[in-house]
Amino acid sequence: MDTIRKMLWVTAPDTLEIRETPLDAPGPGMVRIKTAYSALCGSDMHLYHGKHPFVKLPSTIGHELSGVIDAVGPEVSGLKPGDRVVPEPILTCGVCDNCRKGNYHMCRNVSFGYRKGEAGYGTYYMCSADRIHLIPEGISLKAAALTEPLSVAVHGAEKAGDLLGKTVVVLGAGTIGALTAAVCRAKGAGRVMIVDRSDFRLDLAAGPIRAEKINALEKDPVDAVLELTGGKGADVVIECTGAAVRIREALQIAAQLGTIVQLGISREPMNDYPYALILQKELSVTGAQGYCFDFPKALVLIASGIIDPMHYVTGEFPFDRVQEAFELFDKSGGKQMKLLIRYDEKTE
Ligand SMILES: [Zn+2]
Ligand SMILES: [Zn+2]
Repeated sequence: MDTIRKMLWVTAPDTLEIRETPLDAPGPGMVRIKTAYSALCGSDMHLYHGKHPFVKLPSTIGHELSGVIDAVGPEVSGLKPGDRVVPEPILTCGVCDNCRKGNYHMCRNVSFGYRKGEAGYGTYYMCSADRIHLIPEGISLKAAALTEPLSVAVHGAEKAGDLLGKTVVVLGAGTIGALTAAVCRAKGAGRVMIVDRSDFRLDLAAGPIRAEKINALEKDPVDAVLELTGGKGADVVIECTGAAVRIREALQIAAQLGTIVQLGISREPMNDYPYALILQKELSVTGAQGYCFDFPKALVLIASGIIDPMHYVTGEFPFDRVQEAFELFDKSGGKQMKLLIRYDEKTE
């Protein structure tokens, strides 16, 4: 029985440290998870570089993980030690107007575990029982570690509404773009086109769903989509990069009466946004932020075999080599997709 827990901290820009603290018992309404796998996320890199807009260093880090419950606190029912689970890392107040309406992703006091000293990279993770999801049989703990990003993709694709038989363009073939494209295919999209600058990521994202690939370094994405659609454009565009150039292209790629979902987080000021196209083409432009009751859908998509998260995993490291994993991911230049951290050699 462990008496200490190990957690990952970003102590200074580009500097990780595994710190040890006593292993506490879970409090009322809480469960303690023995972590099996964590996944690296592009958004971790902002914090890793000390450039996260809301988090000062030193800070714990990580929000994508799977594991097995090893202790439950008082007032927890329906969960027990030995249950295989994924936690939602979002922390919500439960009492604000948005929480009360069920829109917990818009909680006015929203936070995340890693911002409050609960690292997603660590040997244990403490989580409120109402943010825990049981992993269906047949899903490995490894695959389940990608439930969080898949939930983001589900949330984004759901914002696009009905996709049956429609033409969808996904801008960006990183993990979120790749998973979003897969969810769009699962929702019945007739054609799925993916735009990225990396052939490696395009192949990985397009392969399992027979999507059409557009390399933005070789061909102007607007020209490419218009050619492929006989000049009409796409019914739905889902922007997953946050890059100003792609955000502009989304308006040009969308067909008349089309829908644009903004899923990528924009961090740069933008000039020349062709907003007149919203009116001229009568476009619907909407945002998608995080997830809200999307984890169960993501887990069903994995359990049914419709989406196999393992397809997107390009590497795995033990926890004591986590810094190596971060450096590889950070400098991959589009040659990595999802990297996993494991805590026990024997866990599948
Ligand atoms: Zn993430
Ligand atoms: Zn709230």
